[in-house]
Amino acid sequence: MKGSCRFSPNKFDGRKPAYLSVYQTLNILKKEIRMKEYKHFINGDYVGSQKGKTFENRCPVDNHLLGIVHEADEQDVDLAVKSAKKALKGPWGNMTQNQRTELLNKVADRINERFDEFLEAECLDTGKPHSIARHIDIPRGAANFKAFSETLANHPTESFRLDTPDGNGAVNVGHRTPKGVIAVISPWNLPLLLMTWKVGPALACGNTVVVKPSEETPATTTLLGEVMNECGVPAGVFNVVHGFGSGSAGQFLTTHPLIDAITFTGETSTGEAIVKAAAVGLRSISMECGGKNPGIVFADCDMDKAVEGTMRSAFVNCGQVCLGTERVYVERPIFDEFVKRLKEGVAKLKLGRPEDEGANFGPLVSLEHRNKVHSYYKLAVEEGATVEIGGGIPDMGEALNDGAWIEPTIWTGLPDNARVVREEIFGPCCHIRPFDTEEEVIALANDTEYGLAATIWSESSARSIRVAEQMETGLVWINSWFLRDLRTAFGGAKQSGIGREGGVHGLEFYTELKNICIKL
Ligand code: NAD
Repeated sequence: MKGSCRFSPNKFDGRKPAYLSVYQTLNILKKEIRMKEYKHFINGDYVGSQKGKTFENRCPVDNHLLGIVHEADEQDVDLAVKSAKKALKGPWGNMTQNQRTELLNKVADRINERFDEFLEAECLDTGKPHSIARHIDIPRGAANFKAFSETLANHPTESFRLDTPDGNGAVNVGHRTPKGVIAVISPWNLPLLLMTWKVGPALACGNTVVVKPSEETPATTTLLGEVMNECGVPAGVFNVVHGFGSGSAGQFLTTHPLIDAITFTGETSTGEAIVKAAAVGLRSISMECGGKNPGIVFADCDMDKAVEGTMRSAFVNCGQVCLGTERVYVERPIFDEFVKRLKEGVAKLKLGRPEDEGANFGPLVSLEHRNKVHSYYKLAVEEGATVEIGGGIPDMGEALNDGAWIEPTIWTGLPDNARVVREEIFGPCCHIRPFDTEEEVIALANDTEYGLAATIWSESSARSIRVAEQMETGLVWINSWFLRDLRTAFGGAKQSGIGREGGVHGLEFYTELKNICIKL
């Protein structure tokens, strides 16, 4: 299957050779046979769009056609939502918490048994290296089903004794019920992981879901339908509809009156549109949105760790991580040394195909996103940046030049009001700026409308904690990055989100807390 990334039917169409060898013809035929059709997964079955509307899914490695995706219209979405509603009352609704936990553990195990299929599907959709997806996307995507079902199953509800005038008193007992049908709208940067991060707790709490994965990355969400069936998850509990946002599946799903709650990960502007949709009918929302995250490097840091950590936080997954660092502030005495070392790290990144085990840097997710990131590269120069390294589109050779490749890039010298320093780019790039005092860097770090994550590098615990407490973000890492304990709260402050998920915090969103008052 990896070979399918190596040869592009659409390339063949565009540059038709004078004749085809038997080998080339066989390759094309093999490829066409393998071309996928991504259907919706509704009520336990794969179904096509009722109106037959489809769109293309292309591999960002070389832009070859991976398959055809069905696009849901209002009727398709309606069918999925009604199946999910019905499933709330069926065998799923009658299951005990233990039975649900067992089933979700089975789902996690089955993803791991089919690990290579998930890995390949994810890497073809996103172009990311196997070496990264093998350690992050797939295992963590599976783990989400185990971690949440176990956490939630062991969480107590509240109980209060109340004195009453007759002296007999009353007892209040908290009782949690599923919220109902949850719409899950997910992005393309970590498709399986970020989707199961929501589907895991939603199902653990007894809800049913309709998932709308990103139009860029339909594969692993579609594959999960098979796993649900294999594990015996009742029909209608997990549903998938494909399509775009506005005027398509995303809008039809978030405005559907039978949706009880909406959980979303994506851009802040999309989040705003979804909050408006959710206002009708006062549906609950959980919003995990964009960021422009600061990294603060103090002169007393362990330089090796700070460089290694910033290399990951700025460049892993081609910079397409919501928690990634796009603004780096370095204390002046070590500024030059830090910039030099980070540049050396970038120079060593190895761009390559997903299956190239030596590669640790893939393309961006699509040509459209590459255009966006590249426009910021040009803007940085216009705004007066010094391009320390990168800044362009690499020559990957004929086989890959149609892909969405971009150079990892470091800038210095931009003013604090530059758009490149203020707007989320979501690419493999960062701006590094010197600072002189703790007070100054706290103000700089917080000078943004976003508030997702901050990273602090210092060997002084007192200082790190003092600064961490002043960050206007939902998450702070000290001397680490993306070190995730699934029991902890996750979410953004300011325009980076609304609400917290993770551990027991998801309970507030995924369940309805009822108080039962018993007069004694
Ligand atoms: P996006 O907002 O473009 O799309 C996300 C999802 O929303 C997609 O499935 C899309 O089809 C859907 N959508 C778009 N418009 C819609 C509408 N009007 N109604 C309903 N659905 C709609 O985001 P993206 O480009 O896929 O992902 C990148 C963004 O996600 C970045 O901003 C990044 O910071 C953010 N992100 C945040 C987190 C977090 O945890 N805070 C995690 C990952 C990514």
